[in-house]
Amino acid sequence: MRVEEVLNQSPPYVDIDLYASDRSLQAAIAANGGEGEAAALSAFGKRWGAAEMFELGRAANEHPPELNAFDAKGFRRDVIEFHPAYHQLMAESIAAGLAVSTWREDATPAHAPAQVTRAARFYMAAQIETGHLCPVTMTHAAIAALAVERELVAELMSKIISRRYDPRFRPWREKSGITLGMGMTEKQGGTDVRTNTTRAEPAGEGYAIAGHKWFMSAPMCDAFLVLAQAPGGLTCFLMPRFRPDGSVNGLHFQRLKDKLGNRSNASSEVEFADAFAWRVGEEGRGVRTIINMVQLTRLDCAIASAGIMRMALAQAIHHASYRTVFQKQLVDQPMMRAVLADLALEMEGATALVMRLAGAYDLAAGDPGEAARARLLTPAVKYWVCKRAPGFTYEAMECLGGNGYVEESVLPRLYREAPVNAIWEGSGNVMCLDVLRALAHKGEAGRAVLAALAEDAADLPGTGAARAAVERAFSAPDAEADARVAVERLALLAAAGALRQSAGPEVATLFARTRLQDGHGAMYGTSEISSDDARRLIDRALPSV
Ligand SMILES: Cc1cc2nc3c(=O)[nH]c(=O)nc-3n(C[C@H](O)[C@H](O)[C@H](O)COP(=O)(O)OP(=O)(O)OC[C@H]3O[C@@H](n4cnc5c(N)ncnc54)[C@H](O)[C@@H]3O)c2cc1C
Repeated sequence: MRVEEVLNQSPPYVDIDLYASDRSLQAAIAANGGEGEAAALSAFGKRWGAAEMFELGRAANEHPPELNAFDAKGFRRDVIEFHPAYHQLMAESIAAGLAVSTWREDATPAHAPAQVTRAARFYMAAQIETGHLCPVTMTHAAIAALAVERELVAELMSKIISRRYDPRFRPWREKSGITLGMGMTEKQGGTDVRTNTTRAEPAGEGYAIAGHKWFMSAPMCDAFLVLAQAPGGLTCFLMPRFRPDGSVNGLHFQRLKDKLGNRSNASSEVEFADAFAWRVGEEGRGVRTIINMVQLTRLDCAIASAGIMRMALAQAIHHASYRTVFQKQLVDQPMMRAVLADLALEMEGATALVMRLAGAYDLAAGDPGEAARARLLTPAVKYWVCKRAPGFTYEAMECLGGNGYVEESVLPRLYREAPVNAIWEGSGNVMCLDVLRALAHKGEAGRAVLAALAEDAADLPGTGAARAAVERAFSAPDAEADARVAVERLALLAAAGALRQSAGPEVATLFARTRLQDGHGAMYGTSEISSDDARRLIDRALPSV
């Protein structure tokens, strides 16, 4: 046999409609009011599932951004150079509205199902490339914090609403489209931002900011929401790359992080040399102001992690459907079928959960119960979905054997990307503490959310006991020590209820039985799922195969 003759390998998984091939996504979108946009979502799914987009994702990560701190004569430049593939991905995402489609021009929320349909697009884009989504999500979320400054946000929105990607290094007022970033984390702490040492002094029409940020991603954004200590306490500011007089602002990038994954995205260490900034919100209310942004970025973290998981699952099922081992297709080997079905079931829960949460954001303005649900479940869903992603991606990679471990397959990139969403924007423990905080602050409304979740999941196996365990754990005197197990149960309860509304009672029952009633084994493939159910789950996960 000639070496060019290739046998028993799966064809490339490209040129697929990421929407039409994903029944759980379609069901979750329909359940949350987005079915009217099915055709548009399918067009988006086709575009992002094209071979060309996979190639852009690969190239943007194989040619990571570079910092150009100085020019040949030693003058500061402080610009980052990106590969053209990154710019192309940015242009596509921004044109599709991922940075703005849930907002109206006056920075008030767009009508439902804007959050749900954006979440669907974000989830599909994340399957192809997640690094570039960092500035996209920050731009989208920053509007929530900036909304307290009506004049400033109106001016910014006139640029963001254009859906144009304009990467030129120019003052933002001269550009056709802009992006926004965020700098909170300092060397001495990212969780406890009240320890920020960066100082802000009133100066002219704004403030002069001196200090540093230890992680500030997407440094070529046009402006950044930053926290700094003003005379009245920790305060939120908007720091543009150019001063109002058109000169370059004092953002001096020290270096770019050499990261495990997320390589297409630049994450900088930056010094602020009396950088100009506008105040956003009152002095001393920095955390309260920026938290509106953080809630939305946390939602996106969970959606993106679900997207990463979906691509890993699709690659695994696709390969196993073509590959033959011991005269049988891999997908028909009982143990492989058990693994794939268990992964598919896990995926069902993650997809239903994030889309139901996006639905709560859609309904929050007119329904206090949904607002309380969004507040309580955002940290819980971020905790659960983002922390499941690395193990899930690893297991999917193993389904491809050695082929999954090499760079040309998309799996190594997905695997390296998987942990970041759990770490940034509040790491795992911090999410659990935030659930406790939300329950304490929301009081009656928090308990009403728990009751509603239990009602959504009523009669599903193990859900009664799960609710009791959650309530017990959260009211215990040492609630912090047990918060992880309680938040895990809370997320699973919410997933079971969301699945009943989207995928239907059969899938919801399987999920609840294997995740809540029986408890899940340490590995995928250990759930008791009948052979018929396994086949149904796999067919549902990738029907085109
Ligand atoms: C790729 C990447 C990009 C990033 N981009 C940005 C950005 O653009 N802007 C920005 O501001 N930041 C950014 N960050 C920083 C990120 O948000 C922080 O790393 C994160 O919030 C954690 O802060 P920290 O690293 O200081 O860890 P720490 O705050 O020191 O936390 C360390 C660990 O302790 C845990 N912990 C903290 N408090 C408690 C407690 N009370 N009880 C129990 N456990 C606790 C945390 O869960 C965490 O696991 C980025 C990070 C990464 C990895």
